[in-house]
Amino acid sequence: MMLSVSEAEARILKLCVPFGGPEDCEPVPLLAGRGRVLAQAVLATRDVPHWDNSAMDGYAVRSPDCQSSDTAPQLTAPQLTIIDEVPAGTDAPQELHGGQAARIFTGGVLPAGADAVVMQEETERQGDRVIIKAAVKAGQFVRKQGDYCRAGDPILSPGIRLGPAELAIAAANQTAELPVFRQPKVAILSTGNELVTVEQSLKPGQIVDSNRYALAAFVEQLGAIAVPLGIVDDSREGVTQAVRVAIAQADVVLSTGGVSVGDYDFVEDVLGELGATVAVRKVAIKPGKPLTVAQFSAETLNGLALGGEERTQPVVYFGLPGNPVSALVGCWRFVAPALRTIAGRSPEAVRPQSVQAIAQAPLGGAGKRDNYLWGILRCTDGGYEFQPASGHHNSANLINLAGTTGLAIVPAGIAGIPAGQSVQVMVIQELG
Ligand code: AMP
Ligand code: MG
Repeated sequence: MMLSVSEAEARILKLCVPFGGPEDCEPVPLLAGRGRVLAQAVLATRDVPHWDNSAMDGYAVRSPDCQSSDTAPQLTAPQLTIIDEVPAGTDAPQELHGGQAARIFTGGVLPAGADAVVMQEETERQGDRVIIKAAVKAGQFVRKQGDYCRAGDPILSPGIRLGPAELAIAAANQTAELPVFRQPKVAILSTGNELVTVEQSLKPGQIVDSNRYALAAFVEQLGAIAVPLGIVDDSREGVTQAVRVAIAQADVVLSTGGVSVGDYDFVEDVLGELGATVAVRKVAIKPGKPLTVAQFSAETLNGLALGGEERTQPVVYFGLPGNPVSALVGCWRFVAPALRTIAGRSPEAVRPQSVQAIAQAPLGGAGKRDNYLWGILRCTDGGYEFQPASGHHNSANLINLAGTTGLAIVPAGIAGIPAGQSVQVMVIQELG
């Protein structure tokens, strides 16, 4: 049965068991955490900011001292005596009493008695005195202790992928080591008698196994570990042996080819024979209709005598079509959410992002299937634009896939979307 894209996605996500046990967790030093998924919450070790401090270069003051007459502000501009200077990095400035101010710089500790900072541009200095030339409100330009978080608050939640912001937060908290999930291992197989490696010479009828590079790069962009297992012959025995090797060592297997209805397409049969549960066979998507997704339960894996340790985590198997564009679109649309789920990402970060964009050229439909058209998604002043790649939108045409940043979706049953109309575009994220 041909499933809709959303039904296929739902079935795939049900096969995915997120990492979560202690065996899936490891500590890493701060910078090694980049791109990894946090396994446990990080709690604030102290209030942030940890003391009241100045948000400006200027003067720390007591706001009641700074009220000028509304009727003649020029004549009555308050004047204060400067008793101290507080650059960032000094502690315990002198307490302010009535009529006093302290010169202060951004980040400087607010003196006791002060409740506001007047920015330098709104003052005039005369020797050891400062004239306050603008109205002052209590609390202005003061970063209060605990405004951003309190000691003990969770400041990073499990499931977040660690990037520059998260690493900075951990560093500011003096958390030198972060608990992260292990990276999913993803075995990559290329099935097809016609395939040769990049290094081999090409005879008539042969093609280069480019899929392994697309898939390995995709997997690594998502923060998983690619385990390339090479080319597999189109034979029942060859595919069986390769699948056994793959499931013995991986959390996820990606194979390309061998999932259509041809005489040399063995993947689904082999999965069934090895005891996997097949949840998806065909999806109403173009490109990429033949898509086999199956799960090997931990019990099945242990029963297959694959060697190695007892298995507790199921393996999710994706049999992607061989055509290069179909394989990559299948990865972007279906494998990415599965990998993010298994990797322990929070559920709201799992599914692909999409935006509405204005089509810059007419976009054709694909009958009963959703048509995914590759091209460039651009952010403009008024929103987004989508420019479909020029040349053939054909699943064998790898050439015009270069630079793809979006996949425009023309839903099943729609003849097409004219230029100038809005279309949903799935964002191809650089980082995953
Ligand atoms: P299949 O899905 O096995 O019927 O393969 C469909 C087409 O995809 C084949 O005719 C090949 O041209 C192409 N193809 C299959 N595997 C690969 C691969 N690993 N790299 C590049 N192209 C491939
Ligand atoms: Mg094939």
